[in-house]
Order: sequence, then C-alpha cells, then structure tokens
Amino acid sequence: MKILVLNCGSSSLKYQLFDMEQEEVLAKGLVERIGIDGSVLTHSAVGKEKYIFETEVSDHKVAVRLCLDALTDPHHGVINNYQEINAIGHRVVHGGTFPHSVLVDSSSKKAISELEALAPLHNGPALRGITACEAILPDTPQVVAFDTAFHQGMPDYAYTYSLPYELCQKHLIRRYGAHGTSHQYVALRAAAIVGRPLKDLKVITCHLGNGSSITAIKDGKSYDTSMGFTPLAGLTMGTRCGDIDPAIVPFLMEKEGFSPADIDHLMNRQSGVLGVSGVSSDFRDIEEAMASGNDRARLAWDIFVYTAKKYIGAYVAVLNGIDVLVFTAGLGENSALAREAICRDLDYLGINIDKEKNQVRGQEREITAEGSRVRVFVIPTNEELMIARDTQAIVTAS
Ligand code: ADP
Repeated sequence: MKILVLNCGSSSLKYQLFDMEQEEVLAKGLVERIGIDGSVLTHSAVGKEKYIFETEVSDHKVAVRLCLDALTDPHHGVINNYQEINAIGHRVVHGGTFPHSVLVDSSSKKAISELEALAPLHNGPALRGITACEAILPDTPQVVAFDTAFHQGMPDYAYTYSLPYELCQKHLIRRYGAHGTSHQYVALRAAAIVGRPLKDLKVITCHLGNGSSITAIKDGKSYDTSMGFTPLAGLTMGTRCGDIDPAIVPFLMEKEGFSPADIDHLMNRQSGVLGVSGVSSDFRDIEEAMASGNDRARLAWDIFVYTAKKYIGAYVAVLNGIDVLVFTAGLGENSALAREAICRDLDYLGINIDKEKNQVRGQEREITAEGSRVRVFVIPTNEELMIARDTQAIVTAS
C-alpha cells in the first residue's frame, strides 16, 4: 500500500510518500511560500537527484497538485499516476477530544472546522489541504491524525483547569497538549528497544525543538503533558513563554495598553529563549552566544534547562517512578549539551547518562550510564510514519 502523508501549514505543505510494505519513504518534499511571492517546491526521491522548482503557488490546491506532479514526474517521480496512491494521511494540530485518527468524512471535517477557533494558524490550512485532495483525488480515502489525540488518555484532574467549571465547558477550555504523535512514536520505539510492552513501562518523553513539550506516559497512555489549552504552555521555547503567572497578562495589558492580539503575539513570538536572550530563538545560536560569554543567552539556556528538569521531576512524582526517559526533536536529538544539562544531578531519580554515548546527533542511541536504573534514549521522531501507519490501519479496516 502506498500512502501519502501531508502536513499543511499556513504557507507550506510538507509531504512524504510511503511504501508501507517495508515502511519505506519513496519520496518527500516541501512546497514553501504558498500564496506569497517566490513559491518553491523542493522534492527528493530515493535514488534520484533533488528537484527544485520555482513557480507561482496561489493556494493549497495548487500546492497539492504540484506535489502530485512531482511524484508522478517521469524524471523525479516514483509512481506512474495519481491512482497508485492508495490513501492520504493528514496531520491536523487540533483534534479537540478525538482520541484517535479518523477517516475524513463530512462529520470529521465539520469538527476540524469548528476547532479552528482553538488553533487558527493550523486547522484552517489542514482543512484546505483535505479539500484540495478531495477535489483532485475524489476516490482516494483520506485520514486525519491529530497532534492532540494521544493526550486524550489523561485523567480529568490532569486536564481540567481550576477555573469556573461551566465557563470551561462552554468554551471547551481544558488541557489538550500537542506533539502527541511524536510522544507516542518515540515511546513505542523505546518500549520496542527495551523489549517490553509500553503499557508496562513508566516513560517520560521530552520533545525538545522550536516548540517543546514533555509527556508522562503510564499504562501506554499520556498521563500528563506540559502543553495545555494551546501549545503556549509548559517549557520555555524558542519564542513562546511557556508557564508564567497568568496575572502577568492583565497586568501588562493594562500597563502597556496591549490588545488581546498584542499580548498573544508577545507571548507566542517575542518571548521564550528569544525574548530572554535578545539573541535568537535557535538553540544553536544560544549555545554559541553562551560559549562566547553572553550572559543573557546563558540565562535563557538556564531557564530552559531548569524548567525541563522541573517537569521531569514532577512527572516522576505523578508516575510514582520512571523506567525510561526519551529525548527527541531538533534539540533533543541533536544537542548533547542540552541532554547533559537536563540530566545533570538527576541521579537521585536513578537517571545517569554516559558522557561518551551522549555525543550523538540525530541518531537512535541508548545513552544510559553503566549501572543506571533508568534507561535513557535519543530517538529521532517520525510523526509521518505514525500518521502513515494510522492511515493504513483505518483505511484497511474500513
Ligand atoms: P519545530 O518545533 O519547528 O519542529 P525542530 O524539532 O525542527 O522544531 O527543532 C528545531 C530546533 O532544534 C532549532 O530551533 C534549534 O534550536 C534546535 N537544533 C537543531 N539542531 C541543533 C543542534 N545541532 N544543536 C542545538 N540545537 C539544535
């Protein structure tokens, strides 16, 4: 079975075509600057030269067509015609209370559309991608996989905010979490390496990238996660503030005359590591600035490491222990410095990493120190494969 996985952003479309027999990626690519000047497609396929094509891409439908044309191109393509694609899986950021991936039909589309209010930058583009595929490939089944779905296993006391209950019900305010597909993938992978079912393990997964979240996993389900109603909560991130005292919001609005949109922009785009350091939102720049003695870069780094440690400690407490700790995503997979700093002085919890083994970048590796009780892994995430697996299972079952 061949499955196309699409990830539509507001101005981009990422795709991967899988052959599910070997779970192998046949081709992947990216359409950037949709609806903006200078749109470009970058496409690479197994055994073929990289293909870069600059053309006008006015909307997501044009972008989907461009991706399909690249996949079927006689020189750069890997399939002969569109019909070779058996199913399409879409990444959707906000799935509300959907506990798993679902087939695209009128009711799931309606639900995604209604959830746009909770993820305005993400659910709209995903819906446009779905509509484009329906128009171009009307007979190909489509599935949506939600970033929030894995976290639907959380107990009510972990997802309910202590605000007036009726108000939260009315506005669907609760913890939803994010990066669920990634947390689930790396947890399952870690369990496979350890050789025990995930449901028998207490796992903490750290997805550390531009956006970062940490999840506590018990009985194979997400028990708690650091992101909340939106992906703004939790850790200090590239440009997001993470957890702050909520009283700061009305205080700043009053003092600075900020509108709701202004304060939202400030917390999402101008805060976090960028806001504290004044240097960059990219941890590579922060590491470099810190090495050359920049004090605010050091402070931003220390805040990040400290909050990550606090979440790990809190989650060990709520899980009543920990068997496995996993690092993934841009920073988690690539930064030995970040992993070492976060794991330093966690020996009381049974977490010790091996300095040599920790010198790994973007590769799967166990970094546990000899004799350490908790097993620590670096596992590159693969959300697309998870979506392709879900798509295959749902389409086969239906
Ligand atoms: P996103 O949340 O956008 O998906 P990624 O998971 O791709 O982000 O992570 C991107 C971040 O990972 C970059 O902003 C950078 O801070 C960090 N990163 C990537 N490679 C390295 C590296 N070698 N050293 C330190 N940080 C890195």
